[in-house]
Amino acid sequence: MHRRTLLRGAAALPVVALVSPALSAMQTPTALRRRVRPRDAAWPTAASWQKLKEAVGGNLIEVHSLFGAREKEPGGAACREATANIRNPFYIGDQPAGTQVSGWLDAWTPAPSVYAVKARHTADVVAGVNFARQYKLRPVVKGSGHSYQGTSNAADSLLIWTRAMNQVTLHEAFVASGCEGKAQPVPAVSAEAGAMWIDLYDAVTSRAGRYVQGGGCTTVGVAGLVQSGGFGSCSQGFGTAAAGLLEAEVVTADGNVRTVNAGTHPDLFWAIKGGGGGSWGVVTRLTLRTHELPEFFGAAWGTIRAHSDEAFRRLIARFFDFYTASLFNPHWGEQASIGSGNTLKLSMVSQGLDRQQTPQLWEPFFAWVNAAPQDFTFTDEFGTGAMKAQHWWEPAGTHRMVQDPRPGAPAYHAWWQGDQDQVGAYLHGYDSLWLPAALLQEGQRQRLVEALFAGSRHKDIELHFNKGLVGAPREAIAAALDTATNPAVTEAFALAIIADGEGAAYPGLARPAMDLAAAHQDARAIDRATAELRRNAPLAGSYVSESNYFNAQWSRAFWGKHYPRLRAIKAQYDPDGLFFVHHGVGSEDWSADGFTRLA
Ligand SMILES: Cc1cc2nc3c(=O)[nH]c(=O)nc-3n(C[C@H](O)[C@H](O)[C@H](O)COP(=O)(O)OP(=O)(O)OC[C@H]3O[C@@H](n4cnc5c(N)ncnc54)[C@H](O)[C@@H]3O)c2cc1C
Repeated sequence: MHRRTLLRGAAALPVVALVSPALSAMQTPTALRRRVRPRDAAWPTAASWQKLKEAVGGNLIEVHSLFGAREKEPGGAACREATANIRNPFYIGDQPAGTQVSGWLDAWTPAPSVYAVKARHTADVVAGVNFARQYKLRPVVKGSGHSYQGTSNAADSLLIWTRAMNQVTLHEAFVASGCEGKAQPVPAVSAEAGAMWIDLYDAVTSRAGRYVQGGGCTTVGVAGLVQSGGFGSCSQGFGTAAAGLLEAEVVTADGNVRTVNAGTHPDLFWAIKGGGGGSWGVVTRLTLRTHELPEFFGAAWGTIRAHSDEAFRRLIARFFDFYTASLFNPHWGEQASIGSGNTLKLSMVSQGLDRQQTPQLWEPFFAWVNAAPQDFTFTDEFGTGAMKAQHWWEPAGTHRMVQDPRPGAPAYHAWWQGDQDQVGAYLHGYDSLWLPAALLQEGQRQRLVEALFAGSRHKDIELHFNKGLVGAPREAIAAALDTATNPAVTEAFALAIIADGEGAAYPGLARPAMDLAAAHQDARAIDRATAELRRNAPLAGSYVSESNYFNAQWSRAFWGKHYPRLRAIKAQYDPDGLFFVHHGVGSEDWSADGFTRLA
């Protein structure tokens, strides 16, 4: 591979040069009991905010809600711009108050911070963290704003916003700091925390012909996803994104800039790999291993409707026989949806199979469906395909991506049409559980079929095969076990996701009144569908970033046996609990809004 360096955004400046001495001074941790709100006498004075503004090179901005301008100036230019772009995830990510989902029934409503440090350098982050600690403010960290749980926005807070830190650098032979002479150099990519996955896919795959394991949704933030664990279409082949982390730069609660890897701060390094975003400090840079790029990526798609409940059960059973025999391996990921209207919707992605292998593989399953027209109809034509992997993330390629239409947007800034419905969506409910691979065994498979059938009477059930790692290569599983992600992922064949909602409902956005009774009914249907699956997997874990806001068992569900170790690491690096997110490590010590420490 040719060594290349891609610079996006401002060049990094020395950390020390930009930190005001007053703000960089180490604060002695005091027992933080209550965080300060704008109405409190202890809220920083205008002069203090001005000092922070100077320390961050002028990049301290007031934050207004996405449709704040609408409230002030109905029909004004800012309001028209927001309305026109409400289905563009890049636009939403570019707004300090932008959240990629517009709220969650009875859970959270987007609320702007008072101010945001629009960080351009690590030094800006240091200044923001020190300021928040000094004045006992509630800091909130945001990258691309994809948190379903609303953990990157909070009223009365100081936002540390990494969006403008988006430099991407490729390495031919990376050795983590302090490991020189001890570790084998490996090809890698470094990204500043505000980069999105499409920025890495463009640099690593489209331009350099290599592969980095990231997320499926192209506009998700790199730092947020790695701290989630992180799954992409090819995770069955390459494992989780967190498992590929070689090193990170983190600004911890004490304002120190730490380079963390397996040799230095191994505990914090481990916690960042799946321990949940927003709990450990502000990650400013990540370096991830890159892999040889498979020659082909491919897909299989189609929707089959069964004409009766009995035929639908047979269809599900036949699909799982086929899945277990032919798809349960490192080549295949992504989804099958078991629909409430007796539909099986397939949107599967492959890696490493060519244009002949893919259709040959699926042929027996198609033939079985086609042989029974009295029982089944293809409502969406079935198809398979494969293409040169290097072109996969090029919007001008053969498959369906939507480009950021705004003037000046990079040509490669595009999102999958399949992710469109989620942009700005308002959630009625959302739940997930890792389905143990034992359910695929011959004697148990019928139980799985019955549970999916029963659950789908209430709601569509999406099975994300790339988010359970049984079937992945041994090294991918071993690497995932060396992260904070719930080890249940290495015993699961899929993550089942049951979720629904409606179109954008941002505060201030003009839209018809929400039918709250229907929304609540929908939420209960999601609960009932989940319960049918849980009956067969009572202790199933749940993926921290795609999970139920109301999960009372969150610490066990998200991290399993790792939770006590994560608590201990939190106590070491953030003893005062400066960093709080809903259902994050240590959040049980705080009120739901994160402002008051519980007794
Ligand atoms: C439409 C959509 C599609 C998704 N697709 C996938 C997918 O394919 N695979 C998958 O695994 N997940 C997926 N997710 C979940 C996603 O990975 C997580 O929500 C992830 O945390 C989002 O990161 P972000 O920067 O985009 O979001 P944000 O909301 O900005 O951040 C998420 C969390 O991470 C914290 N955080 C962000 N940046 C930093 C930082 N630099 N330092 C410290 N904390 C930080 C925030 O405080 C917040 O708690 C998806 C979510 C959505 C809404």
